[in-house]
Amino acid sequence: MYKIMTPGPTMVPENVRMARSLECTNPDLDTEFVEFYKETCELISELLYTENETLILSGEGILGLEAACASLTEQGDKVLVLDNGIYGKGFADFVTMYGGEADILSFDYENEIDVLKLEDYLKSSHDYKYATVVHCDTPSGMLNDIGSICRMLKKYGILTVVDSVSAMFGEVVKVDEFQIDLLCGGSQKAVSAPPGLTFVVVSEDAKQAMRDRKTRIASFYANLTTFEGYYENKWFPYTMPISDIYGLRAAFENIKAEKDVYERHARIASATRETIKKAGLKLHQNSGFSNTVTVFDIPEGVTAEQILSAMKEDYKIMLAGSFDAFAGKVIRIGHMGYNAQAENMVEVFHGLDGVFHKLGVSLNASLEETFKLLIINS
Ligand SMILES: *Cc1c(COP(=O)(O)O)cnc(C)c1O
Repeated sequence: MYKIMTPGPTMVPENVRMARSLECTNPDLDTEFVEFYKETCELISELLYTENETLILSGEGILGLEAACASLTEQGDKVLVLDNGIYGKGFADFVTMYGGEADILSFDYENEIDVLKLEDYLKSSHDYKYATVVHCDTPSGMLNDIGSICRMLKKYGILTVVDSVSAMFGEVVKVDEFQIDLLCGGSQKAVSAPPGLTFVVVSEDAKQAMRDRKTRIASFYANLTTFEGYYENKWFPYTMPISDIYGLRAAFENIKAEKDVYERHARIASATRETIKKAGLKLHQNSGFSNTVTVFDIPEGVTAEQILSAMKEDYKIMLAGSFDAFAGKVIRIGHMGYNAQAENMVEVFHGLDGVFHKLGVSLNASLEETFKLLIINS
């Protein structure tokens, strides 16, 4: 077994694994389960600072993104796709798949979305039904200021769809304050439950837009309106994955019980970034650093594959490379959720010190020692 220090899926704490093994009732017929489901949804909303309704869907993170687009998009709808990373651009596929017209507004991939540039664009073009934006674009670790972005979009009457799968609960998300209409999350990132569930937080404006549709939603699983009235009618659109939801509930109880979850992520992330720089390695981005993942460039003379396989073989630690435009160019360390603990990062840096030494890459300082000093003093 490897120590999983990837930017999702993450390691899963024991109480979450145990919760998944509890005896199950019939989730279709036992009204106690309907109560449990609703309470779990309310807990998620509470932790995201919103009155909006949360729905847990059976399917991993991608289903949430597809459901948001499927439920809003009608033939010919204009959608603004904000792109400064792979998931950002990828939203265009879901938009067009359901008949929408995606205008991709691209920014450079080394910096967070420039809100002033966005504002300039919106001044002349704002005839959009909704816009999509990614909170943390994980393949490059790019964090966007979704609060400023969504508030600005709403000012122009544009609904907002946010993918915060790999940021939420490592980075603060305040749905009401940020004015997010559809927020998508997943179980396997900072939530620290296994992959398999997505949840979507739906605003009244988004519900109204779904009611105002003239055509049917071209999907069943990705149709958020199939949950309408589930609580009153004690009827789910399909049988809920009860064990997954037991695990998810335990994961959220863990988050609720921890007072300083965001400070923990910030401390670990900041010490991690400082360590990388002090050792003479290069952080991949110029701005937009997420507290859930750190991404650094591959030093001269070695490959991502060499680093990743030596970490696995010699230290039993799994880190991630990346894909698409970033394939072979970077290494990603996931410090989100249960992973974000100093002991884990000490092990990672201990391993990286050894791996770089073995591969003949000289560093300006020991990663492990630097991190230990920084974290003690933080
Ligand atoms: C992980 C992730 C998802 C979910 O997709 P997977 O296929 O489960 O990886 C969606 N969006 C972002 C930004 C993610 O990091």
